[in-house]
Amino acid sequence: MIKDSIYGLTFEQLTDWLQEHGHKKFRATQVWDYLYRKRVRSFADMTDVNKECLQLLDNHFAMVTMEEHTRQESSDGTNKFLFRLHDGNLIETVLMRHKYGLSVCVTTQVGCNIGCSFCASGLLAKSRDLTSGEIVEQIMKVQLHLDSKGLDEKVSHIVVMGIGEPFDNFTNLIDFLRIVIDHKGLAIGSRRITVSTSGLAKKIVEFADTDLQVNLAISLHAPNNELRTRIMKINKAIPIEKLMEAIDYYLDKTKRRITLEYILLRDVNDQPEHALELARLVGDRRQLANVNLIPYNPVDEHSQYQRSSKETITAFYDTLKKQGISCSVRLEHGTDIDAACGQLRSKQLRKQDGADIAAV
Ligand code: SF4
Repeated sequence: MIKDSIYGLTFEQLTDWLQEHGHKKFRATQVWDYLYRKRVRSFADMTDVNKECLQLLDNHFAMVTMEEHTRQESSDGTNKFLFRLHDGNLIETVLMRHKYGLSVCVTTQVGCNIGCSFCASGLLAKSRDLTSGEIVEQIMKVQLHLDSKGLDEKVSHIVVMGIGEPFDNFTNLIDFLRIVIDHKGLAIGSRRITVSTSGLAKKIVEFADTDLQVNLAISLHAPNNELRTRIMKINKAIPIEKLMEAIDYYLDKTKRRITLEYILLRDVNDQPEHALELARLVGDRRQLANVNLIPYNPVDEHSQYQRSSKETITAFYDTLKKQGISCSVRLEHGTDIDAACGQLRSKQLRKQDGADIAAV
């Protein structure tokens, strides 16, 4: 039987579990400290915890449920990890170096059902959700990699923007966030974490209703329904009007800023009229919204899309600015490795299959 990952328990869940199994509350504090502060690699290394408790934990939980399959390192310090899960599935995790710290991009599902037409990950339907433990373990694997270099470096930021739609794995996402935020453990500040959704309106509302202070990014990618449906088929089920209603609820409830992600695709959604339409769509929300322009990173799987020219990107940015919209252009990382989301994984799967993946 596959044991659950110990990293999947929040501190409260671990405390309750240990108490239900006859152990005092302070044991949970000890174990938590060994997991996230001392960052030991096995239960046997928790030397202050009594043997009976360690045996119990070892009987029920695993500390390692995935192994590093491949790691690519870019000249800018970006590390792309490919992990093999216990069932053989492969997932990607990326470590990026910024001026402000070290950020990790995590995956939340094996494959994805949203089917964005520009995305290498979306070519493979979701085969399962990751558990909260598997999401936390990605952070831990990267942190242990940093620890092993002895440079005293710590993951300071998290972006939930890897493969999968995080809001389609909502309960595990929320547990994951509570675990990494916990001030007794990794203590990653809520404001240093960003969750990105393709726009599942009901879940945006549910997320607004939690007590979490985590940042939210929404993949918009087009200023009208016709174009957005072409780029993201999810727009058929959840059109822009529904999405905007949910965004308004979120803004009103949380008073926090949101990011609207906009991937620039040459001659598709990158023209001045698109920028003007986008500015109108943002409208009164401009006080609390930042548009993040993302230059498209071409992938073999989607030859129909090309990168916009520098001039077009600048013109799009200037048009938004002139309309009073706060916006930025995303810096790229790892351009000399398989940096686009899902690229490393899909390359590996192609190698295994010995054939190209058919586009859906
Ligand atoms: S961009 Fe994100 S939501 Fe869209 S298909 Fe890719 S992984 Fe899924």
